[in-house]
Amino acid sequence: MSISFSEESNEEIITSAARLSEDNNEGSLRPKSINEYIGQEKAKGNLSIFINAAKMRNEPLDHVLLHGPPGLGKTTLASVIANEMGVNMRITSGPAIEKPGDLVAMLTNLNEGDILFVDEIHRLNRAYEEILYPAMEDYAIDIILGKGPSANSIHLDLPHFTLIGATTRSGQLTAPLRDRFGVSLRLELYTPEELKKIVTRSAGILNVDIEESGAYEIASRSRGTPRIANRLLRRVRDYAQVMADGVITNSVADMALSSLEVDKLGLDALDRRMLRSIIEYYNGGPVGLETLAATINEEAVTLEDVYEPYLLQKGFITRTPRGRCVTRRAYEHLGIVFAGQQELDL
Ligand code: ADP
Repeated sequence: MSISFSEESNEEIITSAARLSEDNNEGSLRPKSINEYIGQEKAKGNLSIFINAAKMRNEPLDHVLLHGPPGLGKTTLASVIANEMGVNMRITSGPAIEKPGDLVAMLTNLNEGDILFVDEIHRLNRAYEEILYPAMEDYAIDIILGKGPSANSIHLDLPHFTLIGATTRSGQLTAPLRDRFGVSLRLELYTPEELKKIVTRSAGILNVDIEESGAYEIASRSRGTPRIANRLLRRVRDYAQVMADGVITNSVADMALSSLEVDKLGLDALDRRMLRSIIEYYNGGPVGLETLAATINEEAVTLEDVYEPYLLQKGFITRTPRGRCVTRRAYEHLGIVFAGQQELDL
């Protein structure tokens, strides 16, 4: 696979939080227990209590909804929950369920206590959602066989299971589905300190020699996202092997990441293009998301789910009712003279 970093490229971008083909071997880096799972202290704290309580009552865990941007560890946390509960996990995703029978088959194949993990649950066909309501509430489903007057309804009891749904857009979930999750946890972007621990742990598993300052450099340029941190670590390792003596020092990490066009704050070519477009074409904003997406030839959902969270966290853009605005900080970061705007909420 070739990766191009040109500003016009539509190919895979190394700092994308979405899963890329090069992440196929993510599995080996996945933490298995809650103690290995770094960060997300609030979510972990709540979950530990629910897990322990369910274990003490000898009952399955309540249904859990995990939401937050891609690459923050929703799938990983679901498998950690399965390990902690000592049960099996079946994995599917909203778009993979193409007909009601797919969902019925998944549900009826579960064993007592199992976890059913549905990734991108907001993309589940609305018509099939209704199968989930009684399944989640009463551990049962009603299947209609045949059509018209000869149709028959069969009532099937299901094992007591836990549904874990993951979504990047909890706002798109219907209220009846959202209400059926007893536990709803939001995952937050990680701090550089937390990502440094993740990078150091992954380096240990991959047998990579890394200095603390090298790990920090990668961590602070990974957009608060473990998936990106692990991906950058692999790239920097390659660079270190070829260009240095295999050890990831601060300067090796800096040189490798600069050559990948990941800047000091982790912004990539698309971030910079997005910020520059708002400045150059819309005088710093406000500009509506759809208009902006059309201007830079990207999908609005990608900008909103993947790019915005980090730019908002870094204070480079603000969201106003009339659209997105670039802040003075972004001008400074891009080295553009700030001309001042009326609408800016600085
Ligand atoms: P999501 O499902 O939210 O898109 P994943 O669970 O697939 O994200 O996480 C992507 C990768 O990041 C995983 O393979 C794992 O190695 C790593 N990861 C995620 N969260 C953590 C964490 N809290 N601690 C250590 N590694 C993590």
